[in-house]
Amino acid sequence: MIKFLDLQKVTAKYADEIHEAVNRVVDSGWYLQGKENEKFEADYSAYIGTKYTVGCANGLDALIWIFRAYVEMGVMKPGDEVIVPANTYIASILAISENGLIPVLVEPNIETYQIDDSKIEKAITERTKAILIVHLYGQCAYTDKIGELCKKYNLKLVEDNAQAHGCMFKGRKTGSLGDAAGHSFYPGKNLGAFGDAGAVTTNDEELAHIVRSIANYGSTRKYVFKYLGRNSRLDEIQAAILDVKLKHLDEDITIRKKNAKYYIDNITNPAIITPIVKDWDAHVFHIFTIRCKRRNELQNYLTEHNIQTIIHYPIPPHKQECYKELNTLSFPITEQIHNEELSIPMSPVMTEEELKTVVKTLNEFL
Ligand SMILES: *Cc1c(COP(=O)(O)O)cnc(C)c1O
Repeated sequence: MIKFLDLQKVTAKYADEIHEAVNRVVDSGWYLQGKENEKFEADYSAYIGTKYTVGCANGLDALIWIFRAYVEMGVMKPGDEVIVPANTYIASILAISENGLIPVLVEPNIETYQIDDSKIEKAITERTKAILIVHLYGQCAYTDKIGELCKKYNLKLVEDNAQAHGCMFKGRKTGSLGDAAGHSFYPGKNLGAFGDAGAVTTNDEELAHIVRSIANYGSTRKYVFKYLGRNSRLDEIQAAILDVKLKHLDEDITIRKKNAKYYIDNITNPAIITPIVKDWDAHVFHIFTIRCKRRNELQNYLTEHNIQTIIHYPIPPHKQECYKELNTLSFPITEQIHNEELSIPMSPVMTEEELKTVVKTLNEFL
């Protein structure tokens, strides 16, 4: 069986370093808000290119705390609107609605699957306060036009960088392109912890400070509570593991890109559409997406041939029961992507043999 992602093998690659880091934390007797968080936050800031990193419990919380901080700062208030791509993981939308803000969905581009920047301006109203871009599948969603729109309409630019650690736009990393970014270190992400973990990156000192408070019961000093906070901290053990994996992230991304290039060059079946990559720096291939009109048939065929695949995602957010108010909206491009998308095995630990088998099997699909 060719796994979609063999996490055991990913971990085995750095097992010695990880065991050492875990043992260090276990033996230290200090498990929260300590040196490991400090070190990882400093290293991650240096990697992304922001002044601040604030660790928190998971990627969804990271995004929620960014908007929550803007509400606390008086930049936004419940009822204000945030523009977000219609094709994203539910977490991006939840982070908006969780704060009483209104998600305004915008169609993606069918070639890149990223928010279509030519459709954003029409969606801007007097109540629009931010654009949340999502670097979906590991590809940069930022464009100069999006930056210009944010300036022109005085909008905050927030990045959902859950799938794109290490991705670049003109020499800068995603996660440093806007006003603030939410990162997920869910185990399956390119930079994955051994459980849930996340972070906010920003150059905004006030925002970093508020996010840190909110994620720690709303306290500014021990037992002094300024905000109605939550407990959403990053464990020391996860920070230590992430710091090890961060050192190897770029080499892992290089392998992902090599695998992606092999797929793109060798998948020749006309029934299958592979990603169009114009800038190889701007894609870290968290997910390798193909599209096929007979997607479900193709997925069954691959399963029969022992190749594990996943659909990202089978139902778009606006068709989900939890967003009844969005159910009547129509986003044909989003719906097409959701009907045709299939994610094939992609990781830094795939063998040449496995890559060959996936390609051959795909090319033999009739
Ligand atoms: C994974 C993911 C999140 C949420 O991260 P968690 O750590 O699982 O909470 C948010 N947005 C996108 C696009 C994701 O892929």
